[in-house]
Order: sequence, then structure tokens, then C-alpha cells
Amino acid sequence: MITVFGSANMDLVAYVERAPDLGETVAGREFRTICGGKGANQAIASARAGGDVRFVGAVGSDGFGTELREVLDRSGVDTRALRTVEGPSGIAHIVVEDGGANSIIVVPGANGKVTEADAERLDGDALLLQLELPMPAVVAAARAFRGLVVLTPAPVVPLPPELLDAVGLLLPNEHEAAAITGLTVPEEALEALLALVPEAVVTLGADGAIYGSRDGSRLRVPGRPVEAIDTTAAGDTFAGAFTVARTEGRTPQEALEFATAAAALSVQRPGASTSMPTREEIEAEAR
Ligand code: ADP
Repeated sequence: MITVFGSANMDLVAYVERAPDLGETVAGREFRTICGGKGANQAIASARAGGDVRFVGAVGSDGFGTELREVLDRSGVDTRALRTVEGPSGIAHIVVEDGGANSIIVVPGANGKVTEADAERLDGDALLLQLELPMPAVVAAARAFRGLVVLTPAPVVPLPPELLDAVGLLLPNEHEAAAITGLTVPEEALEALLALVPEAVVTLGADGAIYGSRDGSRLRVPGRPVEAIDTTAAGDTFAGAFTVARTEGRTPQEALEFATAAAALSVQRPGASTSMPTREEIEAEAR
């Protein structure tokens, strides 16, 4: 079983030719609400990839909270330990300009009310963590958990040593790896990460991913040559699929290939949770 302890946000996305300056009003072309938050995204990705997944966190008592819970349920995620707290759900207010450049405001809402008490008694084979919940809760979860702790270190914030001490596998993209280590060459950053944690994967966008572990193994899987139309949540899809494969006892090489196939499928479709492939699709692609 995989437990995801993380954020759930409603993404409020406006598509516009040019983002407004301060004090300016512009007409947008389209508006969408999309379930997001790195925690919910990783939970849905893991469930669709075939994992037995539980999501722990908080949504608000508003309509967005109801919708977020429903989307998780429909994706096959166990939400019985997901709390509903009084007040608004977390939201991300996103403006996407023609050409894809975006600006984002995140208001944590219910995610900000997740506490160390929520981090007690998390169980399972693997725990998926990101950094969109209050840091004390994330640290408490990592320290209390008995199985493999997988951390996606996003957004970039200083990482407390007591968190890193409890992490088994760190899963940054190349920008996050550079921010943590100060090294912009991913292979060099990977070596520096292995001084902090026993195992690490650095994802490289279209270039794929590299893996290392303290037992000396180093692996590289190239990205798949696909036409990417929306890379939102590619990293979350990768993290979910990789963890599912690992908890099934597959080798790091097999898990990398499974995750790379899953992420390649997701970037060819629009949206976040809606773009995540099922296990059948991943297996057909990975063959
Ligand atoms: P994040 O989404 O966290 O920024 P990356 O951009 O590194 O992470 O993407 C994660 C994974 O998604 C990559 O390792 C790769 O497997 C896949 N991926 C991302 N962008 C592309 C792309 N343009 N073509 C093919 N695969 C991609």
C-alpha cells in the first residue's frame, strides 16, 4: 500500500493572450477548474498506475473540497483519512499566456491546516511526500513512517536535515536538484544528493531521468520521443508510477522504464489528473 501525505488544490486556470499588468483588466479566452496539488496528483497517478493508494491531507468545507474528494474517489484513491476542515480549500490561481508562459498564486487554505497530528499512524510500504503542506507536518510524517519515504522536493524551500535523514528516495527535477546542491550539471547534482539520501532520481524533462544509489548503481533512461502538448504534472506522474513499480518489487531499471512510459503518455494529453495513464496504457507503452 502507498500512502500519499500532501496537498490538494483546485487549479483555477485562465487562458489569455497577455497577462494583465497591475491595475489592468484584460479579457480572457477560456477558463477551467482542474483538480491539482502535488499530493492529489501523485495519489491519482499512483492509483491509475495500479497502486493501492491512500491519500491523507485536508480539503475545505466548500464546493471545491467536495469536488476534490470526488475526483480522488473516482480515480480509485482511498480518501477515508482525508479530512474536511472548516473554511476554503487550497487553490492555485493560474494565468496562462499564449505561448505557455504562466504566473501562479497558491493560497494553501485547508492544506495549511494539516498538522503533525495528521502525520501520526501513516502506514504502508511507501510514503509519498512533497513540500506543499506545513513543514512540521511533513517532517513528522517522514520521521514516523516505517517503510520507504519518497520525497519530491517541490516547491523549492530549505530542507531541514531531520527531514533528509528520514528520506529513502529523493525525486527532484533538474532545477530542484540544482537548487538543493548548487550544482547545475545533473550528474554532479545526483552525486551530491547521494551524500544526503540513500537513493535519488533526477528527472530531466524531455531528456528522461538519471538514477543513483549508495550501493554504487547508476542508471539513465532517455525520454521518449513524443510530441509534448502539456507537461503539467509530468513529474508527479513519474513519481507515482516509479513508486508503484518499486513497491511491487521491480528493479530500479524496470521502475525507471515504467515511470518514463507513464510520464511520456501524460505529456501528450492536456490537464493534470485527466492526463494520467492507466496501468494498461503504461504497460502497452513500456513494451
Ligand atoms: P517536472 O514535471 O517535475 O518538472 P520533468 O520536467 O523532469 O519534471 O518531467 C518528468 C518526466 O516526464 C521526465 O523524466 C520524462 O520522463 C517525462 N517528460 C517530461 N517532459 C517530456 C517531454 N517533452 N517528452 C517526453 N517525456 C517528457
